[in-house]
Amino acid sequence: MRFVTFRTADGRVRPGVIEGDAVRTISTSTLLEYIALAPHERVAWHSGDEVIPLANVTLDAPVRPLRNIFCVGRNYLEHAKEGARASGRELKLPDVPTFFTKAPTAIAAPDATLHLEANVSNEHDFEAELAVVIGARCKGVKEADAHAVIFGYTAFNDVTARDLQRAHVQWFKGKSLDDSAPIGPWIVSADEIGDPHALDIAFRLNGVEKQHSKTSNMIFRIPRLIAELSKGMTLEAGDVIATGTPEGVGFARTPPEFLRDGDVMEVDIEKIGVLKNRISIA
Ligand code: MG
Repeated sequence: MRFVTFRTADGRVRPGVIEGDAVRTISTSTLLEYIALAPHERVAWHSGDEVIPLANVTLDAPVRPLRNIFCVGRNYLEHAKEGARASGRELKLPDVPTFFTKAPTAIAAPDATLHLEANVSNEHDFEAELAVVIGARCKGVKEADAHAVIFGYTAFNDVTARDLQRAHVQWFKGKSLDDSAPIGPWIVSADEIGDPHALDIAFRLNGVEKQHSKTSNMIFRIPRLIAELSKGMTLEAGDVIATGTPEGVGFARTPPEFLRDGDVMEVDIEKIGVLKNRISIA
């Protein structure tokens, strides 16, 4: 199933499930509330009585978590290599995932224009990523049980201000600017994805492919990420974990290619679809 959050012309924002060319409403007030229900409780909420043509709605970010988005740095070997090369560092792979976070205020909707600020950064960059949406409050999850706490998957673009990422040492600031976390267009349920490590992942800038890899190339796979993150730390239903980006990002290209006003970005993930956003830089 494909879960969305959508807005209608009257300004109402509601969750729903895609049915062909329409969206069927879910009776919780937000998708976050729905995700937090126990799996056996979710069934009853599918009987929403309103079916609205997709053409009549605007999709919002499928989920807006209450706290920071969890992210993983350097989780594809070729991206770790290009990053080391571009910043003149020696490649050193960590034994555990490099976690960082993005502020929830950075979240942006699919198809939204992202308003970035030229006086804040000159080096806005893109990162195509598969994101996991956690489906239950959990802690101390074992790798073998990780599948049980996953609600679904979506596409994510970890838009990054490279100059701020470098200057502040800790990545938080350069990763958390407004509109730097587009997500969507929907959350695909875990059962429909099957193996999350058998997916093609690509990024196109103005229609030209810049990144193309397989989620099988992740250094730390999703069960390991959930096990490490939930060690001694509670995860909440609706938490989002962005699993890292493959090679081909702008700053590591020769010459570097940073985002420009009017650029169109597309994150394309097999079995999920395309997360598309236009850039406005003023
Ligand atoms: Mg990233």
